[in-house]
This record gives sequence, C-alpha cells and structure tokens, in this order.
Amino acid sequence: MSESTVNHNFISTIIQEDIDAGRVHGKVVTRFPPEPNGYLHIGHAKSICLNFGLAEEFGGECNLRFDDTNPAKEDQEYVDAIKEDIQWLGFQWTGDVHYASSYFDQFYDWAIHLIKEGLAYVCDLAPEQASEYRGWATKPGKASPFRNRSVEENLSLLEKMKQGDFDEGFCVLRAKIDMASPNMNMRDPILYRIRKESHHQTGDKWCIYPSYDFAHGQEDAIEGITHSICTLEFQDHRPLYEWFTENLPVPSQPKQYEFGRLNINYTMTSKRKLKQLVDEQIVTGWNDPRMPTISGMRRRGYSATALRSFCDGLAVAKTDGVVDIAQLEFEIRNDLNENSARAMCVLNPLKVSITNAPDSVEWLEAANHPQQEAMGKRSLPFTKDIYIDASDFSEDTSLSRKKFKRLVIGDYVRLRGAYVIKADDVIKNEQGEVIEIIASLVPDTIGQNPPAEMKPRGVIHWVSVTEGKEVELRLYDRLFLAEAPGKATDNYLDDVNPNSLKVIKAIAEPTIVNCEAETVFQFEREGYFVSDRYEHSVDTPVFNLTIGLRDTSKK
Ligand code: ATP
Ligand code: MG
Repeated sequence: MSESTVNHNFISTIIQEDIDAGRVHGKVVTRFPPEPNGYLHIGHAKSICLNFGLAEEFGGECNLRFDDTNPAKEDQEYVDAIKEDIQWLGFQWTGDVHYASSYFDQFYDWAIHLIKEGLAYVCDLAPEQASEYRGWATKPGKASPFRNRSVEENLSLLEKMKQGDFDEGFCVLRAKIDMASPNMNMRDPILYRIRKESHHQTGDKWCIYPSYDFAHGQEDAIEGITHSICTLEFQDHRPLYEWFTENLPVPSQPKQYEFGRLNINYTMTSKRKLKQLVDEQIVTGWNDPRMPTISGMRRRGYSATALRSFCDGLAVAKTDGVVDIAQLEFEIRNDLNENSARAMCVLNPLKVSITNAPDSVEWLEAANHPQQEAMGKRSLPFTKDIYIDASDFSEDTSLSRKKFKRLVIGDYVRLRGAYVIKADDVIKNEQGEVIEIIASLVPDTIGQNPPAEMKPRGVIHWVSVTEGKEVELRLYDRLFLAEAPGKATDNYLDDVNPNSLKVIKAIAEPTIVNCEAETVFQFEREGYFVSDRYEHSVDTPVFNLTIGLRDTSKK
C-alpha cells in the first residue's frame, strides 16, 4: 500500500505504538477469521480491507482462518466462495489457509489442562436450568450443582463426551470462573458442546465441538497473531479471551481490539438474514446481483477497486454506525465513469426511418471513451432504419428547446456519433400511438455542425434496426424499500422491494454482444450495465444494470 492510500485509524496507531515500545517480536500478524456459514458481505469487505491493509502497511502478514467450530451451519461451498471473494478483492493470505478445526486436538488437550487445574467441569444442567442459574446482568448467578465434581470425574466424563457416549445436549464442559461476575461471559462459559454432526473438514472424527470463545483466542495464539481485530460485539468477550490465554500454556499472547461494524442503509449485513433471502428464494442465490454480498456486488458490476476504495474511506471507529448507501454508489459511479467503455442500447425502441439515407450500411467510427483515447474505437453501423428510445421523441412542438433536448416533430436532433436528423412525419397505429418516425438526415454533419438554422436540440442515442442485436437487460433496483429494513415492520422481509428486478429486451449496437462476461459498459444516457458473469453469451446476451448514471434518490 502506498503512503498516500494508508488509512490511518486508531488500530494502526496502536500497532505503531506496540512496535515503537518493542512489544511486537517479529512481524505484525493479523487474520481474517470468517465462519464458513454463508457468503461474505460488504461488512466483511471492510474487515478484510482492514486486516489485510494493516498487514501490508506494517510489512506484516495476514492469515485467512476459517472459524469452523459449528459444523451444523457450515459448508464447503462457503469455504470455496469465501476464498474466491477475498482473492477477487485483490488480497492474498499468507501461506496456507488455516482452519480452527485443525487445532481441535490441541483444544481438547487444553480442555484437559483446565480440568486438571480445577478450572473446568462437566455440567449436566439442561439449557433452561443453566440459563436460570446464570442469572442476568443485575442478578448474580449461582453455582451449578455439578461445579465441584472431582478432577477424575470430570476427566472421565469429558472422555465419554468425546466418545459419543452421551446424547446431544446431555452435558457440556464449562470453565470455572465466576458466577457472580458482572460480565455474563465470565459466568462459567461453555467450552464444549456435544454435536453429533459431520464436519466439512474433520468428517466424523469429533462429536464434541468447542465454543467460539474457547477456540478463537487459542487459534490466534497458535498462529502467532499479534493483533486480533474483531467487531464490537466481542468487546465483552475480551476478558474471557484474556482469561484463556493467561490460563493455558499457549505459545503466544495475542491481543484483541474491537471496531464498529459496518452497517449501510437500505441494506442488510447479517449472514443469517441474507441466508433467509436465499432459502426463501426471494433472491436467486447468494450471488444474486441485488445481494450486498461480495459475489453479488461483483455480479452487479462493482469493481474490486471501487469496493476497496469505499472500505478504505470508511472510518474505523469504536462505535457502530450506519453509512449512507450513496457513499458506496458514489465510488461505484466514479470508477465506472472512468473505466467503462461507452456503447448504445435502446431500451424502449421506436423506429425512425431516414428517407435520404443510403440503403447500404455506413460504418462509422466511435470513441469507446470520451476522455480516454487508450480505450480505442469501435465501428458503429448506421442504416436507413434506426431505433431511438420512445421517450426521446415528442409531437409537442411547444416544448421548449431548453427543457426537451430530444427529437420533436419538425425539429433537429443529433444522433450520438452520427448525423443530425430532422423529424418530418409520423406513422400511427389505430390507437393513435406513434409507431414510426419519418426523418431526414442533414448531410455532412458527422463530427460537424449543421448550419445555424438546423441547430440540434440535443444528442440522443440510437441503434441500427438491421445491425442491432437483441439483448436481455436485468434492471435491478434496491432490494429493500426501507432505510432500516425491519425497523418499522419488525420483519425485514416486509420491507423487501417487490419490484427490485425487471427484465426487458432491448436493442444494442452489435459489437458489445461479443464482449466477455463481466464487462461493464456505460449505455449512453441509460446507465452502467455489466455482462452477466454466468449467463451472458454471444448468442444470449444478458446485461445487469449496475447503477444509474446519477443519484436520483434524493429527488
Ligand atoms: P454475520 O453477523 O453476518 O454472520 P459474523 O460476524 O458472524 O457476521 P464472521 O464470519 O464471524 O461473520 O466474520 C468474520 C469477520 O468479519 C469477523 O472478524 C467479523 O467481526 C467481521 N465482520 C462481520 N460483519 C462485519 C461488519 N458488518 N462490519 C465489519 N466487520 C464485520
Ligand atoms: Mg460470527
């Protein structure tokens, strides 16, 4: 990361202080620790940029570690998707991928260690009883009747748990800390649960699985993580995190730091809720272009550069905040305006027949980008019959030239990259609707102005009727209508926008259908569109609306 793009924040300040004070022995090591129970979303992107970014900034390392301690909800599909998304964002973890599950033997040994130290016990309280015993924030908990089991009994019970002698839920292993602690996390938290589940990495080897708390800090310690960065909800877990690293013979002493989660209005950053949208088929999958997942945004046509630049611009704070989606959209437009080729596509075609145009195709040349010559040129076929957008024509001659910079009967307009034309007449159907415009072109007006009296009202886009290609356009809108989905309705599903996808056929200039998947164009005057990552082909061209040309939400 170059000096100018470094995002200074309170965590980078802490790291710098640790280095200056000689508290970091060797490299700075961070990690990104997703649980493979869903696809990564925009919130994760922030965490990825932060963790990988800090490692880069300090010449350190960043591990990718799957926090796979809960097999019931995890899947290899998620493991694969997460790896792909991180690499697509442009980051590479250090060395091999790590898995919490590869430390399960070590965790088990450490559980035995705690029992032997008198710091853990097997508890048979049923979940409801256990929660009653735990008390609540203002009411101290009371000791479980199983708290004083002997070391031998605990060792033998844990062994039986491991061997599958008990049913799920029959008992758990708990740490013996402080049932009166004002911090609920310290009231004898659970270390191991019985779960007769097959695991995507360890198969059927285990039927007991460690809790998040009993795993996370120890994973960090094993990997020599120096700065373990997580979101604020783990702040209250920090004393427990430290209790484990102090009471276990761990190989290093990582420290945990918390920052605020990224929330964005009109969207949702919870894997659980995103999974519900997938499961209930409200979207077509995790990578549906409406999803705030990394793979969804990728399919929508957002670039990795734009996403990173959005994340790098966010404050890293000690409070949770809500970011305006317009901030993300600003980055997307900025990037696409600079980097996407221009093309023409007519969404609502109205035929224009140009009486004085030659019968053969005239091949014009058009720049792919108005400012970036390096993006080259393309050939644009001009023919006697063209389509313009129906909304670009009016029979109302009283419309002012200032307000309606399009084609009006009896007046002139410029066809983008081609001639100035004049609308001479219209053909209507039985309902009186205009179905065709009869027009004439002004000769020698390609790249040249016509005489003053023929000054065009404006510039409109067009496509040749005979040379244009039919394309499918998927017009996406916000997935949620409410700024805070679920806040007013109690059920965020009630805030789902029923019109978040509209599929139409449109006519595009011919060359663009040959593009590869994931190519973004600016369809002039319409918006940014990307060829679909999975379904676009030359024979069945499919483009997704990435974003409109400008922010119209505030109107
Ligand atoms: P979710 O609630 O969506 O399931 P999670 O926190 O359970 O998210 P993990 O897979 O555990 O998801 O997250 C991996 C890392 O990403 C964690 O360090 C977590 O703190 C961070 N992270 C998750 N969501 C956000 C967010 N909205 N903003 C910033 N960081 C996040
Ligand atoms: Mg989590």
